[in-house]
Amino acid sequence: MARQSKMFDLVTCTWNPVILYPCPHSCIYCYVNYIAKRYNLQDYLQSNGRPILKEERLHQNFPRNGLVFVCDMCDLFTWKVPDTYILKIFEIIHKHSRTRFLLLTKNPARYISLLETYGNEIFSQNMIFGATIETDNDELYQKHKISRAPPPTQRLHHLKTFLSKIELDRKHAWISIEPIIDFTSPQTFAEKILTLLDHTDKLTVYVGYDNYDILKRHNIPEPSTEKTLELTDMLKQHGVEVRLKTIRKERQTILNYLQ
Ligand code: SF4
Repeated sequence: MARQSKMFDLVTCTWNPVILYPCPHSCIYCYVNYIAKRYNLQDYLQSNGRPILKEERLHQNFPRNGLVFVCDMCDLFTWKVPDTYILKIFEIIHKHSRTRFLLLTKNPARYISLLETYGNEIFSQNMIFGATIETDNDELYQKHKISRAPPPTQRLHHLKTFLSKIELDRKHAWISIEPIIDFTSPQTFAEKILTLLDHTDKLTVYVGYDNYDILKRHNIPEPSTEKTLELTDMLKQHGVEVRLKTIRKERQTILNYLQ
């Protein structure tokens, strides 16, 4: 079941060969809960927290030169998903060398563990290694119990470590800052992200605010538009491919930015 991704405009379609519901990260803003219940997705509702590999979904066609987002309805790299499932998925990715596959996780420590256990060979050139990093303020993140996933700066550190160890001709990393949560300062957050550039050839960063006001309902602070745009400007200045999603319409700030 491939469908267009609403999350990233660069993505051609999504691919969900593994079902895991509820996802153990339990993010406060998780949209999968809403979708699974609203559309009565029995595959999900019956998963009961057990990962299920949908073998029939392994044998589908992918668009040549397309970009496929792997598992946008759970985190494939939580410790709950067995290595064997991930290895089967990686084999399929290997076979479709003309298609690129976006891996995105809140647990990039698993990338390292896979690399150390199985070696470089399981990874391939057409993989993009991603992590969601909503903020660099771990204290705030933990205070508001935003997710059970590892703290965001630990994720960043693990992604960087992985990128420094993996041997590929060309590496592409991807950060999703969505939903963006208030961060320390544009300079500090940008500097932390930019350390990835030492170990990757290309870095794509998506930035977007919470579309559903879930953070607001939980009194979780979001940065001002101005602060966010300062961050994205700094990233762009260093050659990062920045893609803006929903940005708060604080009219004057946007107008200033467009000038
Ligand atoms: S990692 Fe994704 S799927 Fe898992 S709980 Fe968080 S938002 Fe939901």
